[in-house]
Amino acid sequence: MKIHEFQAKQVLAKFGVAVPKGRECTTPEQAEAAHTELGTPVTVVKAQIHAGGRGKAGGVKVVKSAAEAREAAAEILGKTLVTHQTGPDGQLVRRLWVEEGSDIDREFYIGIAIDREHQQPVMMASSEGGMEIEQVAEDSPEKILKAAFSPADGLAEDDARRLAEGIGLTGDLVGKGAEFMIKLSKAFAELDCSIAEINPLVTTKGGDVLALDAKINFDDNALFRHKELLELRDLDEEDPKEIEAAKFDLSYIALDGNIGCMVNGAGLAMATMDVIKLHGGEPANFLDVGGGATKENVKAAFKILLSDPNVKGVLVNIFGGIMRCDVIAEGVCAAVEEIELNVPLVVRLEGTNVEKGREILNNSGLPLVSAEDLDDAAAKICKSLNS
Ligand code: ADP
Ligand code: MG
Repeated sequence: MKIHEFQAKQVLAKFGVAVPKGRECTTPEQAEAAHTELGTPVTVVKAQIHAGGRGKAGGVKVVKSAAEAREAAAEILGKTLVTHQTGPDGQLVRRLWVEEGSDIDREFYIGIAIDREHQQPVMMASSEGGMEIEQVAEDSPEKILKAAFSPADGLAEDDARRLAEGIGLTGDLVGKGAEFMIKLSKAFAELDCSIAEINPLVTTKGGDVLALDAKINFDDNALFRHKELLELRDLDEEDPKEIEAAKFDLSYIALDGNIGCMVNGAGLAMATMDVIKLHGGEPANFLDVGGGATKENVKAAFKILLSDPNVKGVLVNIFGGIMRCDVIAEGVCAAVEEIELNVPLVVRLEGTNVEKGREILNNSGLPLVSAEDLDDAAAKICKSLNS
C-alpha cells in the first residue's frame, strides 16, 4: 500500500525522524492560511499524489507570501501531473501539503528496501540526492553505499556512521545523519514497510538534517498487524479496476499492453504474460481469479477486463485444479450477457471438468477461438490483434 508524502512525514515524525512542519490543504484559501500559520518567510506548496518527480512536473512551488501560496495552490490543485512515475496519463492533484521552506545546504539520498539476496532490509545512502536514484545506480553504482540490518535490531550505529561519513557528512552532522538513519530503520521494521525513501535528505545552513521528501510503501501482507495504517489509504490514487477486483478477492494489476488475461494462479499468470510477450504481444493486465472463485467472481473478473478501453483482445488461460473449468465458462458467459464482447476472445481450458466447460462455451454462441495449449493460445490472440 502506498501513502502520500505528507502522511509518510507524519508517520515518521512519530518515530522521531526529523521532518519540516506542514499543513494538509485542499483549497487555495487553506494554503494561504497555512503559510501564515507556519510563519516562516518561505513555504513550499507541494502536490500530493502517489508518485515522485513532482518537482520537475511543476508540482512543487516555493512561495514567499500567503498570497503567493494561494496562487500556487490554485495552479497546482486540479492539475494532472505527468511524471516518470505516473505513466503517460498522469495523476490528478486533489490535495496539497504546505510546509516550512528549508534553507538547503546539500541534498542527499537515503532509502531502505528489502534485499532479497540477503533476506534483510538494506539501508542505501548516496551523496547524489534529489536525482533519480535509478539513474545513479545505473551510471555510478559506487556512489550508493549500503548496509544491511536485522529488522529486530535496526541499523547498527557503526554502519550508520560509516554511511553518514561516506556520503560526505562531517562534524556534528555525522551523528545527526546516523541518528536519522537509525530512526528510519526502526520505523521501517516496526511498520512492515517494503520501501522507505527520503529523496532528498538535506542538511540546512543552520546545521540540521531533515527529510524534505518521504515515500513509504507498506507490505500489504502485513497490514493486518497495522489496522491504523489502513486509514491512510487513498482510493482516489488507486486504479478503480484494482479496487473493484479486490472486492471480489481477485488479484488484478493493470499493465500497459492491450491483451486482457484471465488466469488462475500467479505462476500461470506470469507464464502467460511471458508467452504472450514471446509471441510479440503485450499484456494489459495481470488478473488472477485464484483457486476457489465462484461464477460471480469470474463474471466480475471478466467485466473488469472488458471495462479497460485498452483491451483489444482477451485470453482466458485456465488450468483447472481446484478451480473448475465449467465455473469459469459460466462466469464468462454471464459477464458477456451483461456487456457486449466486441474484441477477440481466445480460450484455453485444461483440467477439472474441462469437457463440461468447453461444452458451455461452445453452446453459448460466443465468437470465441479455442486453443490447444498455452503456446497456441498466445499465438492465436497475438495473431488476431495483428490481423
Ligand atoms: P519530487 O521528488 O516528487 O520531485 P520533492 O519533495 O523531492 O518532490 O521536491 C522536489 C525538490 O523541491 C526537492 O529536491 C527540493 O529541492 C525542493 N523542496 C521540496 N521541499 C522543500 C522544502 N520544504 N524546502 C525547500 N525546498 C524544498
Ligand atoms: Mg523527491
